[in-house]
Amino acid sequence: PDLIADLRLSDLAAEPLWPSALVAGAAHYADSAARDMRSPIDHALLGSYAPASAGLVNHAVEAAHGAFLKWRTVPAPLRGELVRRIGEQIRQRKQALASLITLEAGKISSEAEGEVQECIDICDFAVGLSRQLHGLTIASERPSHRMMEQWQPLGAVGVITAFNFPMAVWAWNAMLALVCGNAVVWKPSEKTPLCAIALQRLVESTIDEMTESVPAHLCQLVLGEREAGERLAAHPLLPLLSATGSTRMGRTVAQAVAARLGRSLLELGGNNALIVAPTADLEMALRAIVFSAAGTAGQRCTSLRRLIVHESLVDTLCQRLTQAFESLPIGHPGAEGTLVGPLVDAEAYWAMQQALQAAEQQGGQRLAGGNRLEQGVPDHGYYVRPALVKVPGNLPIVMEETFAPILYLMPYSELQDAIDLNNAVSQGLSSAIFTDSVREAETFLGPAGSDCGIANVNIGTSGAEIGGAFGGDKDTGGGRESGSDAWRNYMRRTTNTVNYGTALPLAQGVKFEV
Ligand code: NAD
Repeated sequence: PDLIADLRLSDLAAEPLWPSALVAGAAHYADSAARDMRSPIDHALLGSYAPASAGLVNHAVEAAHGAFLKWRTVPAPLRGELVRRIGEQIRQRKQALASLITLEAGKISSEAEGEVQECIDICDFAVGLSRQLHGLTIASERPSHRMMEQWQPLGAVGVITAFNFPMAVWAWNAMLALVCGNAVVWKPSEKTPLCAIALQRLVESTIDEMTESVPAHLCQLVLGEREAGERLAAHPLLPLLSATGSTRMGRTVAQAVAARLGRSLLELGGNNALIVAPTADLEMALRAIVFSAAGTAGQRCTSLRRLIVHESLVDTLCQRLTQAFESLPIGHPGAEGTLVGPLVDAEAYWAMQQALQAAEQQGGQRLAGGNRLEQGVPDHGYYVRPALVKVPGNLPIVMEETFAPILYLMPYSELQDAIDLNNAVSQGLSSAIFTDSVREAETFLGPAGSDCGIANVNIGTSGAEIGGAFGGDKDTGGGRESGSDAWRNYMRRTTNTVNYGTALPLAQGVKFEV
């Protein structure tokens, strides 16, 4: 009952677009035995959903492909109009959608609202893009010839998403895919089907308002676990599969997609580091460190996991961070003032405990946190105090991504050593340096600096804006999504040469007279 009061679930249920699962059980997007949906807040049963069978996945892909064949010839700015309206719907329901993220993923309210804002922002971005999907014109070596490139719609795009961004990652992919002239088949995390059903209903109702220009079945939702994802990865009618989640998942998906010579766009795990240099503004650095490490209970792909501190500052930072971690307000993510909500489930909690144990066995020293809270938090949820562990360097456990709030702090003496530590892990997503030295900052950003897709100066590792391309290299998968020219991933390029002369000169001066 408290949960319902806190999150105004009754308002959600009254909203006609909302998941019937909240009110009455399984949705019509699935056709097999039901699975329980539970909230990480207190393990309360939210409803049930049924994973899609092989037949249903196939049906969804074929329907999306059929819609694509019509959608690809709709002028791009008109495709943008659909996305504009979807963005408007999301804007009007920002609070309610954020409540659903809090309920299902356990994010604190302001972060949940931030995630919905990200969906709105990418819609705006995609609408603008719908008038600028431009190619180049290229000087031809032949007289009276024109050479150009065009970007064409690609097909139905498969989108597999992780639990920790149950709405934004879909929006990054789907809104760009739609303006690029593609259909979308979405397989959300099995931990967050309600967020997906809510957005799907909203999209379907928007499509229903535009039946003259928008084909039915353009956006498909398939609920399910890894099997549903595997079926998408193997499906020949999905020329592009975008997958966000663990590196383990990405390796499997990449191989399945490559086996049919499809394209994959991978956004996988991170193991992000921040360097604190001697000239760093410590107050700013502290705020950035605590938000990046403890925000979203350490469950962001860009969460700060490794803090590389100049040896002159180690004692000060150990002390200040211990204090900060010990005083963080932890509890119900919907309650005012909470900064750290629950871990997503018991499995995440045990993975965290195992990592802490391994860190201590390998020579780490726990300075703060790591324990489960039982008082002042909702029953049955996994609430932990973020852990600070001092380590001599990249211990084996530090090389792994543990998806929980553990910050490993290690010393360095020369900048080059710090950069080497930053780059020594297999993942390559986000990184940062706090320094007032231009020389250090530019070295970190330069070609021999950070090897991550995201490298920041004087801000933390998490909380990217949608205008930039988002993603990382190495085991993070190499994909780039969201802003900049990431849209090109969702299109196919054609090079066109037009001869407007009366002769037929061959390229490279080749002679072939017949
Ligand atoms: P996960 O890998 O367990 O699941 C992600 C998605 O993949 C889910 O929808 C799941 O059902 C599906 N899946 C799992 N195995 C699959 C398989 N073999 N074939 C096809 N689909 C499969 O990840 P998670 O626990 O939901 O999310 C946490 C992970 O996601 C972390 O590693 C985090 O760093 C990563 N992540 C990365 C980004 C990024 O942009 N780089 C963003 C968010 C999360």
